[in-house]
Amino acid sequence: MALHVLDEANKCLGCKNPLCQKGCPIGTNIPEVIRLLKDGKLDDAGRMLFENNPLTTVCCIVCNHEKQCEGHCIRNRMATHDPVHFSIIEDYISTTFANKMVMGPAPKNGMKTAIVGSGPAGLTIAVLLARWGYDVTIFEARDKIGGIMRYGIPNFRLPDSVLDDFEYRHLILKDIKVRPHTSIGRTITIDDLFRDGYDSVFIGSGLRKPSAMHIKGESLGNVAFAIDYLANSKGFRLGDDIAVIGVGNSAMDCARTAVRNGARYVTCYSRSDRNNIQASSYEYSYSKLEGVHFRFNKQPVELRANGMVCCDTITDENGNVTVVEGSEKFYPHSGIVVAIGQAAESTLIKTTQGIDMDHKGLLTVDADGSTTRAGVFAGGDAVQGARTVVEAVAMAKKVAEAMDNYMKSLPPKDGKDIYADIPVFEAPPEDAFSEKKI
Ligand SMILES: Cc1cc2nc3c(=O)[nH]c(=O)nc-3n(C[C@H](O)[C@H](O)[C@H](O)COP(=O)(O)OP(=O)(O)OC[C@H]3O[C@@H](n4cnc5c(N)ncnc54)[C@H](O)[C@@H]3O)c2cc1C
Ligand code: SF4
Ligand code: SF4
Repeated sequence: MALHVLDEANKCLGCKNPLCQKGCPIGTNIPEVIRLLKDGKLDDAGRMLFENNPLTTVCCIVCNHEKQCEGHCIRNRMATHDPVHFSIIEDYISTTFANKMVMGPAPKNGMKTAIVGSGPAGLTIAVLLARWGYDVTIFEARDKIGGIMRYGIPNFRLPDSVLDDFEYRHLILKDIKVRPHTSIGRTITIDDLFRDGYDSVFIGSGLRKPSAMHIKGESLGNVAFAIDYLANSKGFRLGDDIAVIGVGNSAMDCARTAVRNGARYVTCYSRSDRNNIQASSYEYSYSKLEGVHFRFNKQPVELRANGMVCCDTITDENGNVTVVEGSEKFYPHSGIVVAIGQAAESTLIKTTQGIDMDHKGLLTVDADGSTTRAGVFAGGDAVQGARTVVEAVAMAKKVAEAMDNYMKSLPPKDGKDIYADIPVFEAPPEDAFSEKKI
């Protein structure tokens, strides 16, 4: 750990009106957590972090600290411009305390809920509802839980071990069931979930469709979309001179992944100028440190097997971009990653009656996360558009309360089992494995 945790804690002024807490989307009580740590009450500090934010071990690593808690710290206004680096304090407390979290499931209340998607939104709902006694099943299209945290954010930024530990402590020990490789909206629909007795459904399906530029060449074999590349970068053969189209955080993740995969040249292209980089300044400076090049004011107009054609652009003082006619040039590259964002996938919604979405494919919900269909709730990127892990968790906390209220308001189920009195099949003894047979 680069900075000593207690040195950082000792810098905290214990503000009565903590700006750091205001800058945290989930309102972490930073001065109180630091006070508990300094008083030697590490377990209490850990408990406080997890109760407020089930994904504290992830957020302390991936949050945009410079814009959130640390960027708001009052010490930024001092001449030394030296904020309390709370993220390393949170990391230390939450990872240390996590090892002690071995409690089994809460007593069940007889109601069950289905969670579609295991990103930060779905996981938060699952943890909270299981804590309140609901029987929770998560349906996940991919092979493992985590959503973008596992399949988008590269391992060198967020190790899989953090999510594996979360799965063990918060899902397996708490008897939360997970059905991997199960995409709701295909073979199993939301109607099937209600048929099978789930009292409510939460949709936390995120944004999993890559945004395309819709230009010639996007289907070529040396081209990848960012979200696909990050999910399995070694599966693509893009050569060792890679262009990344985009300068947001996903583009930086792709560029830095390509560097780690052995690419000799990696160049990010932006249609705007260097004053309009969307990536955080940390991500941008790490990319530069690792040797990534940047070309600004270039608009790709055609992708090819050996590079791409770009036009020059001009960015005005308001950030508006104009393409310069007749300025086409060919930029040689062995492979290209298109990193211009993700959009919602609508298969789930198309197969479900009564759930509305807006023109961007984002789900329509009211203030507590209820969709237009009773009993179906939604949150995270599928509702808010591309945001952050901590914002998905913060929204999910509110939705979990609404789901709890909704399920408590339901009339008691008739609970009749029409097959209750049928005989039980008894297997003949020869069906059993015996030592002799094996
Ligand atoms: C490359 C990249 C890097 C990022 N880096 C950061 C970062 O450093 N810090 C940060 O705070 N934020 C970052 N973000 C944003 C952050 O990851 C998202 O805002 C957050 O993960 C959204 O959470 P979610 O639960 O709504 O959806 P997701 O994390 O997208 O999870 C949705 C899950 O639902 C599953 N699913 C979808 N449809 C179905 C279906 N029909 N049936 C079953 N399962 C389904 C998906 O497989 C997925 O597992 C990054 C995003 C990207 C793309
Ligand atoms: S959750 Fe994120 S923003 Fe909030 S205190 Fe922790 S690291 Fe900072
Ligand atoms: S604003 Fe900074 S100094 Fe004040 S309580 Fe928060 S972390 Fe401590």
